[in-house]
Amino acid sequence: MNLPLTRRAALKSLGLGAGLSALGFLDRGARAADAATARVNKGAKPVTITKVRAITCATQGSIRFVVIRVDTSEPGLYGLGCGTYNQRPLTVVTAVNEYLDPFARGRNVDDIEDIWQTAYTSSYWRNGPVMNNALSGLDLALWDIKGKRAGLPVYQLIGGRSRFAVDTYTHCSGLDLNQLEQQVKIRQAEGFRHVRIQFGSYGSQHLNSKANFREAGFGLPADQHMDSLPYLQAVPKMFAHIRSTCGDQVELLHDIHERIEPIEAIRLCKELEQYRPFFIEDPLSPEQNGWFAQLRAATTVPLAMGELFNSPHEWVPLIKDRLIDFLRVHLTQAGGFTPTRKIAALAEWFGVRSAWHGPGDLCPIGHAASLHLDLNIHNFGIQESINFNDATREVFPGTHTLKNGYAIVNEAPGWGVDFDEEKAKKYPLPAHPGYWEPVRRRDGTAVRP
Ligand code: MG
Repeated sequence: MNLPLTRRAALKSLGLGAGLSALGFLDRGARAADAATARVNKGAKPVTITKVRAITCATQGSIRFVVIRVDTSEPGLYGLGCGTYNQRPLTVVTAVNEYLDPFARGRNVDDIEDIWQTAYTSSYWRNGPVMNNALSGLDLALWDIKGKRAGLPVYQLIGGRSRFAVDTYTHCSGLDLNQLEQQVKIRQAEGFRHVRIQFGSYGSQHLNSKANFREAGFGLPADQHMDSLPYLQAVPKMFAHIRSTCGDQVELLHDIHERIEPIEAIRLCKELEQYRPFFIEDPLSPEQNGWFAQLRAATTVPLAMGELFNSPHEWVPLIKDRLIDFLRVHLTQAGGFTPTRKIAALAEWFGVRSAWHGPGDLCPIGHAASLHLDLNIHNFGIQESINFNDATREVFPGTHTLKNGYAIVNEAPGWGVDFDEEKAKKYPLPAHPGYWEPVRRRDGTAVRP
């Protein structure tokens, strides 16, 4: 029969109690542990949130960064997060300053999980880019604070490193194949082992002939034009050219960016199989997730998906049915570090790897959060990289660096990235509000996205 054992009885049963007790060693330790537990549960005055606010800047030119700063009751202690939603930045500013700030004030900075869970449902209707980016800003700032309080980089708080640095891929695009080839060779010489190749813009718009919708006065003159066929014919030729001129060692990636029909995506992936792509990204729009089973069955091309997902729960079917190979989570759009860690952990059991979305429209603090997770998780795949400009590095001291294709984080406590608000004032948001211009087929039909 199992009886509850007191500490003393347990020690006695091990024959250790008398000696150690006589020294007072274990009793002292136990008393200290009890006191610490009592303090955490109801005693010592916690460090609390005193203010949450969003600040914008555009150090990269056309990208509208939204930085969230959380101040605390401890003088000088603050945390920084990223809630960058480039296409609707001011909606996130409103969500943070008008709603999350009053919600979060007075809460214990230690309780990140509780604050995430309660903030998540504080709007009752949840998920979506505005609320999730705002929530991400708060979440990241709290992890930054926890790291600063512990005197450790965040990746050390979650189990430390699985690798010495974060391997990344870089972007290359050219309007003709020779131009693209030269770019790839430059990146290879810089040390990158993974290169995303695009033939011009998404969907290779430069290959289209006349836009009949413009002649007919449909839409606005600035609306863009992309037909499927020229793109579908060009991409296999692009892969063939780069494979034959840049070698078999370089890993090649490509982003379809959803702009074709599902059956066209299936055919294209099958055609690209012979060139051994590292992954093909966003072959379908999120509205067409139901096609993944057919796509998967038709080809062994590795698939990367999901930067547009709104709810973290959208990942579950694709992960559990092993329909994709790489997770394209945009960490701030998913609601921050807290939910993205959970998506990563779920995916580990199913052999699905990370490829966090890491383009320009994530500020250096958001990139740091992605990189800290990359360092830690076992199922890391690859990280999309960006080499930030000098203005960004001046305003965000501690921004990660790139060397030999690897991203290297600053080892300072928290995310290791600071934000100079005064210097940021030199970089106000651009005049254009940020929406995406329409893309149309020749007859004017809107293309997604
Ligand atoms: Mg993409």
